[in-house]
Amino acid sequence: MHTDILIVGGGASGLAAAVSAKTARPGLAVCVAEKLSRTGKKLLATGNGRCNLMNLASAPARYLGDAGFIAPALEAYIQKYKDFWAGLGLALTEEEEGRVYPATNQASSVLDVLRLALAEKGVTEMCGCEVRSVRPAKDGFLISSSSGEIKARRVILATGGLAGKGLGENDSFRTLLGPLGHRFTDILPGLVCLKTHKEQVKGLKGIRLKGSFSLLDGDRELARETGECLFQEDGVSGIAAMQLSLFAAPLLKAGKTPVLKLSPLPGDARCILQKRQSAFPSRSCGELLTGEVNRMIALAALRRAGISPALCAKDLSASQLSRLAEELSAWRIPVTGTGGMAQAQVMLGGARTDGFDAGTMGSRLVPGLYACGEMLDVAGPCGGFNLEWTWASGMLAGRKAAESL
Ligand SMILES: Cc1cc2nc3c(=O)[nH]c(=O)nc-3n(C[C@H](O)[C@H](O)[C@H](O)COP(=O)(O)OP(=O)(O)OC[C@H]3O[C@@H](n4cnc5c(N)ncnc54)[C@H](O)[C@@H]3O)c2cc1C
Repeated sequence: MHTDILIVGGGASGLAAAVSAKTARPGLAVCVAEKLSRTGKKLLATGNGRCNLMNLASAPARYLGDAGFIAPALEAYIQKYKDFWAGLGLALTEEEEGRVYPATNQASSVLDVLRLALAEKGVTEMCGCEVRSVRPAKDGFLISSSSGEIKARRVILATGGLAGKGLGENDSFRTLLGPLGHRFTDILPGLVCLKTHKEQVKGLKGIRLKGSFSLLDGDRELARETGECLFQEDGVSGIAAMQLSLFAAPLLKAGKTPVLKLSPLPGDARCILQKRQSAFPSRSCGELLTGEVNRMIALAALRRAGISPALCAKDLSASQLSRLAEELSAWRIPVTGTGGMAQAQVMLGGARTDGFDAGTMGSRLVPGLYACGEMLDVAGPCGGFNLEWTWASGMLAGRKAAESL
C-alpha cells in the first residue's frame, strides 16, 4: 500500500491531524492506521462520557513541558478553534472555569463529527492495523505493520501513551521513535488518585470534602487546589487530588514523601471551636462540631489530636483546642504513592520535545516525520487542557506535513 501521509494512531491527535492535512491539501492521499478495531476509543471515555474538549483559560504556562515548544501550536489552535469545530458541525458549550464541552454533552458527538469529516474528505481508515516500525527510505518511509508493508511520503506519529486501562494504552512512542534516535523523559502517571496509609483515612471512605487542598514538599507548598476530594479506602481521589498528583508523582519518583494538606474547617478553626465550646458547653467533643463538619472527619480529627470524643466540651483545655484546630485547618497526610498508570488520565513525560520543531511538530532528526499529542512530553491539568494540546499539536502536524508535499 502507498499513501502520501500515514498517520499512526486514530486517537484525538491523529484524527485532528488527518482532518487538517486533508483540509490543507485535499488532493493528497491520507491514511490513519489504528491498532484497535475502531478509532477514538479513549475519546469516548473522556470527561465522564461528556468530553471536556478544551479550556478557555489555556495558555502554554498552564502545562508541564517546555512552554516555548507548546506556544506555537496552542496559539494557532486558540485562533482557529471556533472555525475548526464549527466547520465540522460541532456546537460547543462553556461551563465553569472555562471548561468547554460539546453542546450535546456527548463525547460520541466529538468523535462522530471527526469521523464524518474523514469520510467526507476521503481519508482512509485502517483499523486493526498496528504499526511496528517506521524506517526512512527513498522518497519517504517504509512502514511495517500488522496489515503488511506501507509506503508513505510523510509519517505523523499520534500514538498517545501509557495512561488509562483498556483505552489503547501503549508504549509505541518509545518503540517507534527510539530506533530513530529520539530520546525520552521520565514517564510517570498523571491526573490520578493519591495513595496514603490506610490508617490515615480510616473510616472516611466515600466522604467528599470541598475546600482548599495543598501539596507540600516538607514545609514548602508546591501547589494549591480549590475543589473537591473524595476519600477512598487507601487514599484520596477527586479532581483536586488528581491535579495535585501532577506535582506528587515527580516527588515520589525522587524518593520523597509529599504531604497533602487539607482544611476541613475553613476559616479560623480556633475561633470557630471557641465559639462552639461556649455555645454548647455540655456537648461531648464528639458532638461539638455536629452540623459544622462531617461527623466522621470530626471524629478522625479528635483521634489525631488525641482527644476522647466522650470528653465534655467545657473540659477541653486551651492546648487541646489548639491541637484540634490544627488538625481541622491544616491536616497533613503523607502521600505514599499514586494510583498508577492504569488509573491515570494522562502520561507525564514522553518524547523529548527538543527533538521536534515547535513550528511544525516535525522531527529534527528524521525529515518528513512528525509527532503530536500525548506521546510528546507535554501534559496539562484537568479541565480540557490535555485534549486541547492533542487538537492543537495534531492540527499543526497535519497541516505542516501536507504543506511540505
Ligand atoms: C478516562 C480518561 C478521561 C479523560 N478525560 C479527559 C477530558 O475530559 N479532557 C481532557 O482534556 N483530557 C482527558 N483525558 C486525557 C485525553 O484523553 C488524552 O490526553 C488524549 O486522548 C490523548 O490523545 P492522543 O491522540 O495523543 O492519544 P490517544 O487518544 O491515546 O490515541 C492514540 C491512539 O493510537 C493508537 N496506537 C498506539 N500505538 C499504535 C500503533 N503502533 N499502531 C497503530 N495505532 C496505535 C492507540 O490505539 C490509540 O487509539 C482523559 C483520559 C482518560 C484516560
